[in-house]
Order: sequence, then structure tokens, then C-alpha cells
Amino acid sequence: MERFKALRVSKADGGQAAAWEEITLNDLSAGDVVVRVTHTTINYKDGLALTGKAPIVRKWPLVPGIDFSGTVETSSHPAYAYGDKVILSGWGVGEGHDGGYAQYARVNGDWLIPLPAAFEPAQAMAIGTAGYTAMLCVLALEAHDVTPDKGPVLVTGAAGGVGSVAVSVLAKLGHHVIASTGRAAEADFLKHLGAAEIIDRAELSERGRPLGKERWAGAVDVAGSHTLANAIAMTKYGGCVAACGLAQGFDLPATVMPFILRGVTLTGVDSVMVPRDKRLAAWSRLATDLDRTKLAGLTVTRPWSDVIELAPQIIAGKVRGRIVLEVE
Ligand code: NDP
Repeated sequence: MERFKALRVSKADGGQAAAWEEITLNDLSAGDVVVRVTHTTINYKDGLALTGKAPIVRKWPLVPGIDFSGTVETSSHPAYAYGDKVILSGWGVGEGHDGGYAQYARVNGDWLIPLPAAFEPAQAMAIGTAGYTAMLCVLALEAHDVTPDKGPVLVTGAAGGVGSVAVSVLAKLGHHVIASTGRAAEADFLKHLGAAEIIDRAELSERGRPLGKERWAGAVDVAGSHTLANAIAMTKYGGCVAACGLAQGFDLPATVMPFILRGVTLTGVDSVMVPRDKRLAAWSRLATDLDRTKLAGLTVTRPWSDVIELAPQIIAGKVRGRIVLEVE
């Protein structure tokens, strides 16, 4: 482990640059557990960090990668010992603390969770932050009583990472899923995951009316902006919208009408600082409510060396489903 390979972003020429480097443990952020990273992935936020399209990186140089799975190498944390299989997602890792795009990561043991028995390390990263956030959204809808008998559920950005896992889980739970996508070519893919209807995301992406026809009892929104405003405006009386993303924009050009006339709830979903009990609940529900064949069908595996070229693709909305990156 003397020297190992890592991808680091550094400041360069008034901007930033990403490069593969040989580093040592002393180069990594402090922590009480060292993990040999076997799998990582690329999420939308990783794309932002690698391209510099948004100020995600808060430490220079930084190993990006907001999540990883692997095996404990050394630990002074009471809960972990050599050989334990673990997952990490969030807590500012890959933002202000060195992350998963390295052969070794050093983190605070309180941030880790044991790899659930139901999953292999590669499957945990097929789910990754995106899939686990999708499950947090499903749990948020359930907490607001959005059950299949109440009506359809909308999923925006359906062909992306959060969206494709949300479609799969909601369909397995018996919901009538309306998948909104900008990629008509992915209709078969989405139907295979369980979508009952496909709509063109253009239907939701322009400024809409304060209140629209009541079309869904709940929604999982990854887009923000007009898409989120329209999703709220078309939610049935007493329904709930879980907002987790900003793929269209971080603005919310909405009115209070759906809230005060239809009792609609807008619930925010964050995966980064969410407490440990909710994380464990989400992973436990993924073990029972995410079909493994569907998960395999929405995942491609690539060598981690491809991550730099994948970053602009995920920001452009060109990545379908989830990508597992195998670490050398
Ligand atoms: P992906 O890139 O995999 O998916 C995003 C999808 O959004 C695209 O595939 C596309 O789906 C759709 N999309 C892209 N551009 C637009 C647009 N202009 N208008 C409407 N839809 C658009 O990213 P992820 O699924 O990993 O992440 C989705 C969002 O969720 C991101 O904003 C991310 O930052 C956020 N996120 C938030 C988390 C949290 O903790 N709150 C955790 C994880 C993700 P299609 O082609 O089907 O239309």
C-alpha cells in the first residue's frame, strides 16, 4: 500500500484539472478506517466535481468520488476490523474529504455502513448514492401515505440513475409508475423496469399553470425548476412530491396554490447528511424491494479509468441507469 493510484482534481490555470497520480496514505484526508476500494461509481455530483461545472470541490487537491464499496484494511474504530466489507456514501466525501476514486480511502468509521448481506460490493455500487437516494424518496412518499391505491406516481429523469432505480422499486411495490424522460429511445428500457406509462419530459419542462389537472398521487423529482413546479401543480389532493435533484435547475418557479388548495406536501430528500438509522432503513428496503435482475439490467460495468470521459456525459444526461466502476 506504500504508493497507490488515485484520481485527483487540482487547481490549474484559473480552473481545475483531473489527473491520475501515485499517492500515499499521508496524502489522504484524516480518518480512523482505511478501506481498500474495490468498486466505485459515477453520480451526477461526481460529474459536477470532475468537470468543475458546480463548486462541489471544497479541498485542493481532492480525490473525488462520493461513494465506494470495499474492504477494511486497517481500523482503529471499534465497529470495524481488517477484512470487513463496507459501503460509504456522502458525508462530504468526494467534496471536502478525499473520496472513492483511489485504490485506498481513509474515512471516519462512523460514516461507514457494513455491506448488507443481500449485496455484493459491485451491486452496492450499482445502487450507489443515486439508487439509495431513490429509496430515500420512496420512503419519504410512504411516510406521507402515498400508497398504490391513491393513484399513479411520477418519476422524472426516469432513465437516469435515481430515476431508473425509483421506477424499478415503485413498480415492484405495486405503483402505477409514470416515467418522464427526454429520451424516447429509452421507452422500452423504462417499461422493462416496470414503468406503466412514459411521458415526454417536455410536457413538464416549461413554465406551467399554478394548478394543473390532478394526475399523480406522488412524485420523485430529480430535475427541480419548472419540472418540479409542474409536478407539484399536477399532484392530487393530499399527495406528496419528493424533491432530490436539480438536473433542470435549482430554482423553483412555483406558487403556493397546490399547498393551500390541495394540501400537497413537498418533501426534501438529502442523502449526504441523512442520519445513520435512515441509511440502514433505506439499504434494508433496497434488499427486499429492488429486483436484482432489474438492477443488473440498468447497470453497466466500466473500468475506473473511464471516469474522466464519463463525467461530461452524465452532466449532459447521456448516461442510462447506473455505472459501476471497477477499481484496479
Ligand atoms: P443522472 O444524470 O443519472 O440522471 C439525471 C436525469 O435527469 C437524466 O438522465 C435525464 O433523464 C434527466 N434530465 C437531464 N437534464 C434534464 C433537464 N434539463 N430537465 C429535466 N430532466 C433532465 O443523475 P442522477 O440520477 O445521479 O442524479 C439526478 C439528480 O439528483 C441530480 O441533480 C443529482 O444532483 C441529484 N441527486 C441528489 C441527491 C441528494 O442527496 N439530494 C443524491 C443523488 C442525486 P431523462 O433522459 O430520462 O429525461
